[in-house]
Amino acid sequence: MQLTEAQLNAYKEKGFVLLPNWFSQAEVNVLKAELPAILTEDTPRRGLEQNGQSVRFVYAPHVSSEVFRRLAQHPRLVEVAMQIVGSPVYVHKFRINSKAAFHGDVWHWHQDYIYWREADGMPAPRAVSYLIYLDEVTEFNGPVNLIPGSHRMGVVDYIADDADHALHEQTNPGTVLSSVTRKYSVQPTTVTQLAEKYGIESATGAAGTVLCIHPDCVHGSAPNISPFNRTVAVITYNSVENRLQQVDTPRPEFVTNRDYTPIEPLSEAALFF
Ligand code: MN
Repeated sequence: MQLTEAQLNAYKEKGFVLLPNWFSQAEVNVLKAELPAILTEDTPRRGLEQNGQSVRFVYAPHVSSEVFRRLAQHPRLVEVAMQIVGSPVYVHKFRINSKAAFHGDVWHWHQDYIYWREADGMPAPRAVSYLIYLDEVTEFNGPVNLIPGSHRMGVVDYIADDADHALHEQTNPGTVLSSVTRKYSVQPTTVTQLAEKYGIESATGAAGTVLCIHPDCVHGSAPNISPFNRTVAVITYNSVENRLQQVDTPRPEFVTNRDYTPIEPLSEAALFF
């Protein structure tokens, strides 16, 4: 599977492209059937919201789920990632963001690449991320908002905030994650300038939609006060030619994968087995 020229051009122009019906309802059903087990597993890979109860994210769901392991090797993701970065790829990160009804909290304006450069030693933004929608994403349940074209600015002014780190420590005491979270958000004045220049788009879509996003594209999402969950699987593929450099305190393997073996895509029917 490849993006059409129009889809690829949209990605290059805007820093993201929305791919409706990328996965069928039947495939979404297979993925969603795994969620109860994944979200209730008591594991250091899991992080909670500030209320200490709702699941905010689970890293590396493919560790415990064969379905999600196969999702990461799906040709509709892997082949497109290869098309975008121009080389074989491996999985840099894999996470489920649950954004639960009523309790799913804010993700402030940020660029993904700054985290990977600062915390993981990624040399260049030669990677691509997908948000695979497992629920319908509407204007009400905290869609990702993006500033189209912002990726062309490279890394913009940011704030490195350890307050979020302390908060995470309170919410997730004693977990590995509590020692690795530092927040890099884009300066509000920079968000204002970019939004006045380029506008803001909201990436809504049915379950099965995929949002494909450039590492430098500025984005964030509001809390989910609606009664509807907004669960997405987030997979980042990095070029095998863009391997991570050594860092002083590497994040755990389930947060930042350092196995650079190129992925061999499975068949189109990978989720049915
Ligand atoms: Mn992000």
